[in-house]
Amino acid sequence: MSILTALDLFTVGVGPSSSHTVGPMRAARRFVSELTESGQLDSTARIRVSLFGSLGATGVGHGTTNAIIAGLEGAAPETCDPALVITAMDRAVQTGIVTVGGRTIPFAESDFELRPMTRLPQHSNAMTYTALDADGQPVFSRTFFSVGGGFVESDDEIGQPAAPTDTTLPYPFDNGDELIELCDSTGMSIADMAHANAVAIYGAEVVDARLTDIWTVMTNCVESGLVHDGMLPGHLNVQRRAAGLARHLESQQTADAPTEFANEWLQAFAIAVNEENAAGMRVVTAPTNGAAGIIPAVGYYAERFKKIDRLVIERDFLLTAGAIGTLYKRNASISGAEAGCQGEVGSACSMAAAGLAAILGGTPRQIENAAEIAMEHNLGLTCDPVGGLVQMPCIERNAIAAGTAVAAVRLALAGDGSHKISLDTVIETMRQTGLDMSTKYKETSTGGLAVNVVEC
Ligand code: SF4
Repeated sequence: MSILTALDLFTVGVGPSSSHTVGPMRAARRFVSELTESGQLDSTARIRVSLFGSLGATGVGHGTTNAIIAGLEGAAPETCDPALVITAMDRAVQTGIVTVGGRTIPFAESDFELRPMTRLPQHSNAMTYTALDADGQPVFSRTFFSVGGGFVESDDEIGQPAAPTDTTLPYPFDNGDELIELCDSTGMSIADMAHANAVAIYGAEVVDARLTDIWTVMTNCVESGLVHDGMLPGHLNVQRRAAGLARHLESQQTADAPTEFANEWLQAFAIAVNEENAAGMRVVTAPTNGAAGIIPAVGYYAERFKKIDRLVIERDFLLTAGAIGTLYKRNASISGAEAGCQGEVGSACSMAAAGLAAILGGTPRQIENAAEIAMEHNLGLTCDPVGGLVQMPCIERNAIAAGTAVAAVRLALAGDGSHKISLDTVIETMRQTGLDMSTKYKETSTGGLAVNVVEC
């Protein structure tokens, strides 16, 4: 990925994890494509997949094996049927086959090798795909890294500078200070510049259609989560609660005080999305799936309780949030395996705060201030999903972070935009804190709540 825009961060996928589900599905598709190009598909009699580090530790709970089987069989995160993805591994085990590039290849559960204690030096989320011939000899092998947000890089791409591109962005910025300077010098909003940059790459028609699509998937996800009861998948037996919360709030609501429970609704919206994500349903990576509830919840809250026009949310809210998200992706990390939960929920909280500040009339400096406040109070947040599932603390954490985003906007809009700690400073602090954080707090489920909650 040479140039990053808001549209690259918000992609339609499936739950429960962008790095453990969406990324591995993309990597599996890419492996099949490269295997085919290599001319070795016809001699492939078996495919072995090794999952290293965080993917080996929590991949099964995060749906990685299902996603890889689905990806090998040609499924794409944007278009796949989520119901078929969550049953892919069981189906392959029962039938003993996978269909790869039109060929039927024998499959057994033992074709997956989980190596949680081996962390490849380049990144914690590593996977190696190896095609074997009928004699069991390797004929083609590729290692990929799922680097967060559904992005995938091969071993010859990771850590390399971005490839040169013919596209020149009209408003290039690499950090928050440059973004504010551009706003000052052009008089344009962050959203307008982000829109112009995305249009330079994708064209206006594609950009506007994709923004509409992204917001449609986000709202569908909120609304679906608000009506679905039942148990979430996995051994923790976690009961869904967004639908019950919504019924309760509706029963309390009175016509003369329609915004009385706005904060409670905000939390219900976030929980709704994250329950859909945990159930493996259609979501938007925002910027990851574990943190997928915060931006939709804040946008939905703005539409319902602040009466912001849907088109403004599709455009200004998403583009501003996305512009801030590119700073996290470029200068720190949005991967829980790399930076802990501050990289996922912290980044999403900051993005949502920026988007809300923009559509409530904030200046660029107030927007940057809101984004900074929101991240500042997520610094140090660890990733410790209980049982390796994206459920506890993830679902509730999104609800709390949505509230933090709204609170950050209130604080920022009460000031004039001047503040001591810049957004760039907190992004760099997040990066350094992520580097210092013990591996057990980075999506391995070997520390924090993951080892202190008794599973029963
Ligand atoms: S704890 Fe945070 S980073 Fe870890 S899986 Fe949950 S949402 Fe993602």
